Amino acid sequence: MEQLKQAIMEKGVISGVDVLKVDSFLNHQIDPQLMNEIGLAFAERFADCGVTKVMTIETSGIAPAIFTGLHLGVPLLFAKKTKSITLDRRTYETKVLSFTKRKEYRIVVEQAYLTEADTVLLIDDFLAEGQALRGLIEIIEQAGATLCGAGIVIEKGFQHGGDRLREKGYRIESLAIIESMANHRIVFRD
Ligand code: 5GP
Repeated sequence: MEQLKQAIMEKGVISGVDVLKVDSFLNHQIDPQLMNEIGLAFAERFADCGVTKVMTIETSGIAPAIFTGLHLGVPLLFAKKTKSITLDRRTYETKVLSFTKRKEYRIVVEQAYLTEADTVLLIDDFLAEGQALRGLIEIIEQAGATLCGAGIVIEKGFQHGGDRLREKGYRIESLAIIESMANHRIVFRD
């Protein structure tokens, strides 16, 4: 997606060797026009699988996911990172290793909002090693729901989480795949 790649080139900041900061349009300040285009792109790519629900993990997946839900005409369900007292006690839960924080956290979804009648499209801002997607897939399996695939805004191809999931047969579609960030230069996969 050219508009996204342009935003990454112009506004992305490489932190350390493998973290890309896109705080000016995705992870802190959010560009609604770009999110709308991203949502439309995912809705078009996954128009064929009868999606009933878009799912992500709070917080940074919510912006692209809500626009995807809007264009598909389905609700967005986000996994919560902590067990809130307002949640019903019947929940699906699993643990995810955070790539950026290097610590494990629990994700929780109330059972009332995800059932075996659902066909789910996962959306996330980044795909690095694939831990977040793995956690969401586990929640979908607990619910007995059907997984359509995953739409990723920015995949860091050099961390191979996406390739490993594709090898297992999952449908992963990324709007921008970064092949390398070596020498502070961003190179996209074709
Ligand atoms: P994974 O679970 O695939 O290893 O990492 C994906 C998750 O970690 C995403 O949900 C995202 O929040 C975070 N993440 C991974 N790499 C980056 C990065 O380079 N920049 C930002 N902003 N977040 C990242």
